Amino acid sequence: MNTRRPPRFPEPVPLTRPTVDADTDLEPALKEVFRSGMLTNGRHVREFEEAAGAYLGGVHVVAVSSCTTGLMLVLRCLGRSGDVVVPSFTFMATGHAVAWAGHGVRFADADPRTWTLDPDAVAPLEASAVLAVHTFGVPCDADRLQALCDSRGIPLIFDAAHGFGSRYPDGTMVGGKGVAEVFSLSPTKTLSTGEGGLITTRDAAFAAELRTAREYGNPGDYDSRFIGLNGRMTEVSGLMGAHAMKSFPRWLHIRQSLVDIYRRRLSELPGLEFQEVPPGAVSAYKDLAIRVDPTRFGMDRDELAARLARENVSTRKYFSPALHRQTAYRDVTGPDLPVTDALASSMITLPLYSHMPAHLVDRICDLVHDLHAGR
Ligand SMILES: *Cc1c(COP(=O)(O)O)cnc(C)c1O
Repeated sequence: MNTRRPPRFPEPVPLTRPTVDADTDLEPALKEVFRSGMLTNGRHVREFEEAAGAYLGGVHVVAVSSCTTGLMLVLRCLGRSGDVVVPSFTFMATGHAVAWAGHGVRFADADPRTWTLDPDAVAPLEASAVLAVHTFGVPCDADRLQALCDSRGIPLIFDAAHGFGSRYPDGTMVGGKGVAEVFSLSPTKTLSTGEGGLITTRDAAFAAELRTAREYGNPGDYDSRFIGLNGRMTEVSGLMGAHAMKSFPRWLHIRQSLVDIYRRRLSELPGLEFQEVPPGAVSAYKDLAIRVDPTRFGMDRDELAARLARENVSTRKYFSPALHRQTAYRDVTGPDLPVTDALASSMITLPLYSHMPAHLVDRICDLVHDLHAGR
């Protein structure tokens, strides 16, 4: 008789969980929100915007309902026409926001070491703007992209969905470069308010325009100046965000120490490659992604994922398929993207969340070691 061995982890290990400080009692503040009748875009959203702006180094912050909405509003307010360059190695929302804002999408390849948008791949492309991504939290090469955009007179925008808490090589926080950066606060990101996003910019006039944009384009007199959206953040999200800002630096620190364990333990094995963080930069590690070299590791990414799943460990093949291989983008033409294709076929993300116990990371590393030994 064939009795199946029980999985290494009796309880499923999730890929990620939102970290919410459930110990502080938010009930009085919530009751106050409900009693006040001010359910959206009120005092708590304002407090959250201020706290986030201070944390990010003194930028203007416009809270919105999602990162996708924020990107659409930024593109709309820039008022450009023509194609926008995005990486293909990203989450689908990066490209979708460009398309929803009425632009054509142009895909550019990734840097093989940092996995972020490669400035050399952007250079030959015709574009009205560039939308770069801080992939998995590693800041993209903002300075080279900025120089490139300046030489063309086109704006640079950052999809900073993964980058809340990340730092550029010059030590400044992600959030302060380009015409705007847009963070996501959905449940898989490093800071979450359930749903939500933050647009950050150093340009006060642009921030004011974005505030109008998130109110349908209505500055308050009901004469809409342009086609905006309802992009507001609710007060419940604002309250969660303002509250989360107090604990965020501590969570980020824990998250980074968990990644240190992964990096130390898994770099002992051949054929597992980590994302390069540029010298001086800091990643907030929205995800811990590794590349699997099948020859050197002894099994490919798909087999590693299947074997981990058998032991109850969730993983994700981020970002596979890459955008230029997705059905929605089948009509987009452009150059071949060999680095993106190679990344998409070899990448796996492992469980990581800020309140994950360190021993769980160690046990997952033990398991990967054992799978390698028994391959
Ligand atoms: C999650 C994500 C988004 C979308 O964020 P929402 O807040 O869900 O709209 C955009 N870009 C990237 C890279 C993401 O990972």
